[in-house]
Amino acid sequence: MACEHLQNKTCLILKELGIGSDNYQVACDNICKGEPDNLRQYFGNNKQSKEEQQRRQEAEAERQRMLAEMPGGFELAANLWRHLKEIHAHYKATGRIKLEQADIERRILICQDCPSKRSVIDDKGHLRCTDCGCHIKEGVPLLGLDGKAAYEAIDCKRGHWPEINL
Ligand code: SF4
Repeated sequence: MACEHLQNKTCLILKELGIGSDNYQVACDNICKGEPDNLRQYFGNNKQSKEEQQRRQEAEAERQRMLAEMPGGFELAANLWRHLKEIHAHYKATGRIKLEQADIERRILICQDCPSKRSVIDDKGHLRCTDCGCHIKEGVPLLGLDGKAAYEAIDCKRGHWPEINL
């Protein structure tokens, strides 16, 4: 196929897109087909999807790094135990355990976009705080608990949660 953009065996459109080839005729016959916009679209989308793939890989590497630094095992159990004691002491002092739903949701929203970048989604899809390892939204099913955002007695140790009017 004769194409006005194929000159001296070089496709001017691909050259403009920064794509080199030993055989421009192949792209001309199979992709361009006389419509240079086909080339722009094809190679533009390809570039975009590579960038998207790289962005996802970087995000996953960052998630893995955060999961690796989150407390686990004994430290996680100790944090949970400390929170249970805080909840119990608060209940004894005030008779209250959980916040109003609107306040819980306000806390969760803050954690989802944690100002200190300490929140992460774990492999089960749960939002966790990497400072203490706690679930923020859903709790530990075995203990029948909600996430840490639900409890009046527990605070964000970085001070990101709003004051609660008790
Ligand atoms: S509890 Fe505080 S530090 Fe942890 S994720 Fe939520 S806002 Fe961030």
